[in-house]
Amino acid sequence: MSRARVLLLNAALGPLDYRVPDTMSVEPGSIVVAPLGPRQLLGVVWEPDRMPSDAEVGDNRLRPLLAVADAPPLREPLRRLVEWTADYYLAPPAAVLRMTLASTSALEGARTAVEYRATGTVPPRLTPQREQALERIGDRQGLIRELAALADVSDAVIRGLVKSGTLEAVQVDIDSPFPVPDPGHGVPELSPDQRAAADALVADVAAHRFQPTLLDGVTGSGKTEVYFEAVAEAIRLGRQCLVLIPEIALTEPFLKRFAQRFGCEPVAWHSGLRSSQRRRAWRAIASGEALVTVGARSALFLPYRNLGLIVVDEAHETSFKQEDGVHYHARDVAVMRGRFEGCPVILASATPAIETRQQVELGRYAELQLPGRYGAAELPTIEAIDLIQEPPERGRWLAPKLVTAMEETLGRGEQVLLFLNRRGYAPLTLCRTCGHRFQCPHCTAWMVEHRLTRRLACHHCGHVEPVPRACPECSGEDTLVACGPGVERIADEVALLFPEAKTAVVTSDTIWSPAKAAEFVDRMEAGNIEVVVGTQLVTKGYHFPNLTLVGVVDADLGLEGGDLRAAERTFQQIRQVSGRAGRGEKPGHVLIQTHSPTARVMQALITGDAEAFYDAETEARREANAPPFGRYAAIVVSSEDQACAHEAAQLVGRSAPRVDGMYVYGPAPAPLAMLRGRHRYRLLVHARRALDVQDVIRDWLGKLDWPAKARVTVDVDPYNF
Ligand code: ADP
Ligand code: ZN
Repeated sequence: MSRARVLLLNAALGPLDYRVPDTMSVEPGSIVVAPLGPRQLLGVVWEPDRMPSDAEVGDNRLRPLLAVADAPPLREPLRRLVEWTADYYLAPPAAVLRMTLASTSALEGARTAVEYRATGTVPPRLTPQREQALERIGDRQGLIRELAALADVSDAVIRGLVKSGTLEAVQVDIDSPFPVPDPGHGVPELSPDQRAAADALVADVAAHRFQPTLLDGVTGSGKTEVYFEAVAEAIRLGRQCLVLIPEIALTEPFLKRFAQRFGCEPVAWHSGLRSSQRRRAWRAIASGEALVTVGARSALFLPYRNLGLIVVDEAHETSFKQEDGVHYHARDVAVMRGRFEGCPVILASATPAIETRQQVELGRYAELQLPGRYGAAELPTIEAIDLIQEPPERGRWLAPKLVTAMEETLGRGEQVLLFLNRRGYAPLTLCRTCGHRFQCPHCTAWMVEHRLTRRLACHHCGHVEPVPRACPECSGEDTLVACGPGVERIADEVALLFPEAKTAVVTSDTIWSPAKAAEFVDRMEAGNIEVVVGTQLVTKGYHFPNLTLVGVVDADLGLEGGDLRAAERTFQQIRQVSGRAGRGEKPGHVLIQTHSPTARVMQALITGDAEAFYDAETEARREANAPPFGRYAAIVVSSEDQACAHEAAQLVGRSAPRVDGMYVYGPAPAPLAMLRGRHRYRLLVHARRALDVQDVIRDWLGKLDWPAKARVTVDVDPYNF
């Protein structure tokens, strides 16, 4: 009789054994349907020696597998990646496996899906709900439940619209092929620096071996054109490429740019896909037909058939760090995937992370440099505005010098970008009479006023409430005041100063889909926006030749809190946003508003001496034995019941093992002491690099008698502390 060990898609379960019916044939990696109690679950057959099972069940008691899915088995390199990720980040293997299968509907046998879209004829009378639904759906299409979610109505409302003929069914063929990119389509003339870098990368692709390379070039140096040559080589050889980008808002501009070079768009993978698009992309990736995939970090776990190259664009971006579910860093997992697949990995960045520079230093990663901007473009001039010496007027946030520079820039018909990494109108609202502050009921966080939507919103859990007329504490009317600026408030100030200027606020509130991002790019290119006020969403990727002035409204913002990476992150962010200025033939200028113009990071930005900054930061990290020299892991204990969370955290603290070269700090209230209604305590583990800290933690937490109401999560190599 043949048995199979199966890892089921249920994070609470370990692997289970099943009987393989005689009529069925499976191998490691086969995707199967297995019974579990009364349910049927999807799972993957695993090598028994790599996935020990706690429950040894005799042959006669095994239940039979029900079916093998109509999809290729997960290949060995991907199975090793699942194991590695689960092991390194202390996550349940099934939770990692779920990311590879992405959506179980990817495996449904049907080759078509039925979606719905508006017919264009609107009946004379509509219920308000149906009217709202139609308006929100616009020209989009999707499954009934997708449209219902989009329009925020029940499925029944959508079905009603179908019945009345307002929405019509469309058959979507999920097996229709993707176009094949043409490496010879829009071949650029590379500069000698670009040529040298491209040749080295092309050689790595041709050799088809594991080789991480840092492609380090200032903003506008043409890194994209360079790694596109490596992509072209992989396409010529018939191998698949994966390009990871940090933000789904950047998908659309990337697709366009890719199409200019290769004649058609690549396959896109991100959370905004409809389920039919997801199924089509997953199948094309698994069959090897999808030659180039561009996606957010989740694209990393897809079942590529013959991966020949991985590119991580803007590799320093902190958004590659996944903060819920499986806590992983996509940049680091990308390198591991390259190792298991035996293919090159390119990390492209103008401001590489200290961790990445250290890998170069140690000789583990190769480095290619592009020292200057491509073509006639020069790097922008950068100047600080000392907010103590030259403050803005009372109640304003833009200093006179910045206002004058804006006036001149707009006068020349050029565009301005004001950067402030804070969504909404004001970060804090309080009552002038009694001092009441608006706090989120579920989090230790202030509610942020959003004037565009007239709401107070929590940026941590998404809780929203209307802005009240009167203070809920003292009932005072018109006593509420907004404290501090967010992007919306800066946009108001711009409207006051330059009433004629066409201004756009660009944040995740206004650019929430790839289509919105595309619309923004079109409006910028057509000159229909003169001043952009934006958060970190506008700091990267975009190329607007007529944008010549960048103003950083509050450069000190990121330094508050003083966590390990505060200075590095500030440097990266401001340098990236500066990189948006003067990318064409016109010179760019950057003005940085700060209270501490002499701080090391501000000086580095002004002088452009990145090396000196990095060297000093690296030295400080070495002294503190902080990453990349030592390492951290955060253990967060949470519960809806504060006493329970506190007690469980104490228990974890008391049972901390004594290990040479490891220190445990805490437990202490976590930086967000309450999040989504859960009270949180944190223990911070600081260890020598060489220590197998995961092993220690696994052993430590594994032995605890855990209270049912408390939950523990471990964040290995944490970012937010
Ligand atoms: P980076 O990614 O390093 O910031 P990009 O790749 O976006 O730089 O290049 C900046 C601009 O220069 C883009 O508009 C790009 O199309 C252009 N460019 C770069 N290299 C070339 C080239 N060899 N030929 C033509 N245009 C180029
Ligand atoms: Zn909240």
